[in-house]
Amino acid sequence: MQAGPLASHVPGDRDRLSRLMVDRRLRAFGDVFAAGDAAARADPDHYALQRCRHAIPMGKVAGHNAAADLPRLPLMDFAPPPYVPCLDLGADGPEI
Ligand SMILES: Cc1cc2nc3c(=O)[nH]c(=O)nc-3n(C[C@H](O)[C@H](O)[C@H](O)COP(=O)(O)OP(=O)(O)OC[C@H]3O[C@@H](n4cnc5c(N)ncnc54)[C@H](O)[C@@H]3O)c2cc1C
Repeated sequence: MQAGPLASHVPGDRDRLSRLMVDRRLRAFGDVFAAGDAAARADPDHYALQRCRHAIPMGKVAGHNAAADLPRLPLMDFAPPPYVPCLDLGADGPEI
């Protein structure tokens, strides 16, 4: 799993998956905001997973912030709900 090559054109720190380190508003560098598989949230307690569950809300926040940053409107924090996957544990009872 690696960030796509487009992320390599953005200056700044990266994690071991080549993802851009972003702040809580998903700012990567200057007026560049990153989301999804290209962004590793630089929060000491949370890293974003390369999953749709994080990519979709990150895209919403990064898009809002990129647009709001130009006219200096308030920016949003990225605060996703906890990541809770559903697992099928199989049939109950003895194997047939
Ligand atoms: C096989 C596979 C199965 C997966 N299954 C799941 C799953 O079951 N559940 C789950 O949560 N996640 C799953 N994922 C992960 C999920 O797909 C990704 O985390 C998510 O799509 C990331 O969204 P994104 O917008 O960051 O990137 P992407 O969805 O990859 O979108 C990036 C887009 O940018 C475009 N692009 C790239 N470079 C440029 C450029 N230079 N100019 C213009 N456009 C460009 C690409 O063509 C692409 O359309 C799976 C991934 C894979 C590969």
